[in-house]
Amino acid sequence: MKVKQVICLGCPIACNIEVKFNDVDDIKDENISNHRCKRGIEYAKSEVKNPTRMLTTTVKIQSEILELLPVQTSKPIDKGKLLECMDELAKVRVAPPIDYNQVVLENILDTGVDIVSTTEVKR
Ligand code: SF4
Repeated sequence: MKVKQVICLGCPIACNIEVKFNDVDDIKDENISNHRCKRGIEYAKSEVKNPTRMLTTTVKIQSEILELLPVQTSKPIDKGKLLECMDELAKVRVAPPIDYNQVVLENILDTGVDIVSTTEVKR
């Protein structure tokens, strides 16, 4: 049986959860330990099976006041795609006006996830 340690990001307690499994598609609740609440069970299963992360970064903007526009993914994305996404975002150039939460790149790398602005830039 494989054993994996997962740090739960569900709250600031950050439980160090232990997951024992043979098959990532059939992880039994009773083989998950060291979590303080039930949220940790689902988090640990998804982290072992398909880890995802929010990507926060910047893209270039042709603005009078900013050189880089802060952006993030609209939802968590496969952890394994993060570097490829960063390469894709290095090619992006945007121009004002940009609203808060405006999509600056749709469906990055066909993941179904958009890249959105985390601030507004008027000029
Ligand atoms: S398992 Fe529950 S208590 Fe522990 S870090 Fe996750 S959300 Fe917080």
